[in-house]
Amino acid sequence: MEVNCEGCAGCCLNWRPFYDTETDGTARRHRRARIDTDTEGEGAADAAGARVPLDDDTNFVALTRDEVRSFLEAGMAPALTPRFWRARDAAEGVEIDGRTVAAVAGRPVFFVGLRKPPKPVAPFDRERPTWLPACVFLDPETLQCRIHGDDRFPDECGSYPAHNLALEQETECERVEAAFGGRRLLEDSAPDDLDGLLLGTQALGAKLFAHPRPAALEGVIDRTAAGALTSEDRAECLAVAAASSPGTLVTSDYHYEWGKERALETADADGNSVDESDDERNSADGSDDIRDESWVGSAIREWERRRLTAGETVPDPAIAADVEEARGAPTTPGWDALE
Ligand code: SF4
Repeated sequence: MEVNCEGCAGCCLNWRPFYDTETDGTARRHRRARIDTDTEGEGAADAAGARVPLDDDTNFVALTRDEVRSFLEAGMAPALTPRFWRARDAAEGVEIDGRTVAAVAGRPVFFVGLRKPPKPVAPFDRERPTWLPACVFLDPETLQCRIHGDDRFPDECGSYPAHNLALEQETECERVEAAFGGRRLLEDSAPDDLDGLLLGTQALGAKLFAHPRPAALEGVIDRTAAGALTSEDRAECLAVAAASSPGTLVTSDYHYEWGKERALETADADGNSVDESDDERNSADGSDDIRDESWVGSAIREWERRRLTAGETVPDPAIAADVEEARGAPTTPGWDALE
């Protein structure tokens, strides 16, 4: 679909801190049709605000099982994180950590998506950068995707915002237009040959994963809500996702063990730690190459460390050359090169 992404990245970062202060967000070209027209059934319940995610990511990129496996194979487990939801009512959920978590057949369900560490970014022609949660693969300087055109570029990113239009839901492009002006969405309808929606039972095991052992998630649900997941928490969910079978609740023991081992051997050893000694220790004994085969885990830790120690200061987004590219992240072409 034709969209105007230069200087935006609205679907790759959480820009709601601007939204709350600068717009009421009501000027939309595509309102959620189900809010207006769906007066009964699941659509109405969802529109009323049920099944609220436990995390606070405003534009979570849900990956397919095969994409999860591909990221695990590439040593990029630290880039991934699960999303759980609060159930609409006790009948459709399971109790874990004092919360009723949305479930299918007694199994808590979740997506796997991309993490958003804090990065200094200046989208929407803002003069000064701000620390915002931004996709692990977003180059904060050019606001372009580091894996665009790569084998691992997620289907959901490639089909955005067409899926939203097909479902008659508001797009991030329209929210950005409403908040900051300009034209971002340059077409009003989804392509006729759009696929990959994965709705309902099609999604189960392919994009919506069901954990077969709810007890294994004790503590994980609390830490999800607190934004404090550990590498082990994420590995447990990634392993179940990698072991899932499209259209069923069945999981493969072989793929679960493979996924768990792969996630743990490529994870940052101490989870969300922002201990300054991490990188010194890793580079001193060379273990970073073993624990984290790609640049992503080390870069996430470095962004978190810098955010924690930055106070009120925000560095130039060009610092990403040190934080990401120096660790092996692919570069992005910039917008001049695309004109
Ligand atoms: S993978 Fe790329 S396109 Fe998708 S959210 Fe991340 S930066 Fe954006």
